[in-house]
Amino acid sequence: MYIIMLGKPGSGKGTVGKMLSEELEIIHISSGELFRNYVKKAGKIGEEIESYISKGNLVPDELAIKLVEKRLEEPDCKNGVILDGFPRTILQAKALDDFLNKHNNKINIAVELELSDKDIIDRIVKRRVCSNNECREVYNLEFKKPKQEEICDKCGSKLIQREDDKIETVKQRLKTYHETSEKLVEYYKNKDLLYAVKLNIHSGKTSEDVAKEIEEYLKK
Ligand code: ADP
Ligand code: ZN
Repeated sequence: MYIIMLGKPGSGKGTVGKMLSEELEIIHISSGELFRNYVKKAGKIGEEIESYISKGNLVPDELAIKLVEKRLEEPDCKNGVILDGFPRTILQAKALDDFLNKHNNKINIAVELELSDKDIIDRIVKRRVCSNNECREVYNLEFKKPKQEEICDKCGSKLIQREDDKIETVKQRLKTYHETSEKLVEYYKNKDLLYAVKLNIHSGKTSEDVAKEIEEYLKK
């Protein structure tokens, strides 16, 4: 099964995607994490990627497509994937359609998590991630507090704020979303693949609730 997670930066697609991945036992791939790992490894590709991510801009299509397809060709992806953060442009979406087609696969559903820009900003500036590369657990100072301040519940490492989660970069990422990635909602709607979930941060609906709702829908 191939599931696409759509939504603004910080809409919760990563958290929900990971939960779905555990429930459905299919791998979760975040393009953002994939790219950040290249940045950590340094080298020329890493440097190039960093120059885009740090400004809140998209990695160019050609490079993004190449790296994600390379990842999708690995054996752990053969039963399907939950793709989070890719595609982000129409060109990427078309490339992915072609890629899956070639491998006799197709997208089953595109899930969109809808949240207002104000809610997004409120949420992202409170987001913290575990600094341990092997863990990378995500927290929120209001909605998903660590038991001990600034320490990861899972592994005890220090929590940090992602450099691109600072307010100015968040605003640029939202702008990029509206200019480019928003069009994907229409793209998948036209293919009759869209499943949209409307959210607001004060509704009390948790990521677990959202993941369950999507699973129920998939069963039908
Ligand atoms: P979020 O969804 O919270 O913005 P991600 O971790 O998905 O965070 O992405 C972080 C950054 O990685 C993006 O701002 C962008 O620079 C880059 N990126 C991730 N996915 C893509 C993609 N499909 N195409 C181009 N750039 C991407
Ligand atoms: Zn951790």
